[in-house]
Amino acid sequence: MDHFPLTQSLKKFNTFGLEALCRGILSIENEADVKSIVEQEVHPIKILGGGSNILLTDDIDAFILKNEIKGIDIIYEDSETVLVNVGAGEMWHDFVMWSLSKNLAGIENLSLIPGTVGAAPMQNIGAYGVEQENAFHSLKAIDMKTGYSRTFFKEECDFGYRQSIFKKEYKDRYFITEVNYQLRKTTDKLHLEYGAIKKVLEEKMITSPTIHDVSDAVIEIRRSKLPDPNEIGNAGSFFKNPIIDIELYNSLKEEFTDIPMYPISDSHVKVPAGWLIDRLGYKGYTRDNVGVHKNQALVLVNYGEGLGKDILDLSKEIQQKVKEKYQIDIIPEVNIW
Ligand code: FAD
Ligand code: NAP
Repeated sequence: MDHFPLTQSLKKFNTFGLEALCRGILSIENEADVKSIVEQEVHPIKILGGGSNILLTDDIDAFILKNEIKGIDIIYEDSETVLVNVGAGEMWHDFVMWSLSKNLAGIENLSLIPGTVGAAPMQNIGAYGVEQENAFHSLKAIDMKTGYSRTFFKEECDFGYRQSIFKKEYKDRYFITEVNYQLRKTTDKLHLEYGAIKKVLEEKMITSPTIHDVSDAVIEIRRSKLPDPNEIGNAGSFFKNPIIDIELYNSLKEEFTDIPMYPISDSHVKVPAGWLIDRLGYKGYTRDNVGVHKNQALVLVNYGEGLGKDILDLSKEIQQKVKEKYQIDIIPEVNIW
């Protein structure tokens, strides 16, 4: 059994700002770097992007492969669309800003989501009624067992609500190195259905919004509601919104008359987990330097010197209380390391 010293701090590499040591951080700048890790049999390894969706609960006895693969290039275009190849280590928001600078539509609702482009397909990032799969074309990834590269087209990724094949059976198996997105030259199909977007546009008296207006509105809403990880450690929504049977929803509605829901199908509805947690009185709750954000009960926070295991304990307590009160299982969205 190897006894490798754990000397490298990961504190600056996760948006919760949690302390944890690892064997070392190896910068990955291109596909050849990934292949050489496999050839040299460097292991165990963990793949890291911006660290905005991980919870470090302990030291990590592994080498961390930090994705720094850059580049944004148009590789094909026709009269209506543009196919863009993006290095997986580009920051997602920088890519959104790039698309706006070229007046290309499709990802404007996904403005200001932290993290890298390579992690975006991993949980099929989504916000304000749009998911990255709406613009996704294909990706290239290296199999960390064999070192071979493979192209995955959309139908092979099994995208779902904050879900993909890379978060399920291929978890930790593939290093995503580049992603191709198909963006639209026509900018008339906007997604404004999320209440807050329309309200902000109305307040600004914008009657014919552009993709730039939508992005600005999303950025404004996000800045007003979500804690900035540079100020308070967090990883965004800690739990996914549960999708429940409509019969369970109807029985809960008898007791909790204002419980919100969004229809998913004839038989299922989505219930905002933030509402369930808020009603248990957790909004603003604090203990041991960790807690639940004061404006958004779905976001767990580290006030500075908190420990990952304390955040994990709090998350388990919340899961249990939600189960007891509503008979609903809420599942973490954050990757627990
Ligand atoms: P990391 O945290 O570094 O990694 C996450 C997981 O992906 C890990 O398991 C890692 O091993 C794996 N991974 C990372 N890169 C690769 C790769 N190249 N190949 C294979 N596996 C990889 N998410 C949303 O969906 N919608 C939101 O609106 C949203 N808002 C957020 C707001 C805040 C303030 C914060 C802090 C987070 C938010 N998130 C949101 C969550 C997070 O931003 C996304 O999940 C993002 O895609 C994570 O990117 P990352 O590069 O930081 O991934
Ligand atoms: P919100 O607008 O207060 O709404 C609460 C929840 O209700 C959201 O999570 C959303 O589910 C759902 N919802 C609201 N309007 C909806 C509609 N018209 N149709 C279907 N579902 C609707 O949420 P918020 O916390 O401010 O977040 C706004 C958006 O940013 C959401 O899409 C959210 O997912 C995203 N976000 C994600 C993270 C993350 O870490 N994953 C962090 C911050 C914000 P959905 O989540 O399914 O969209």
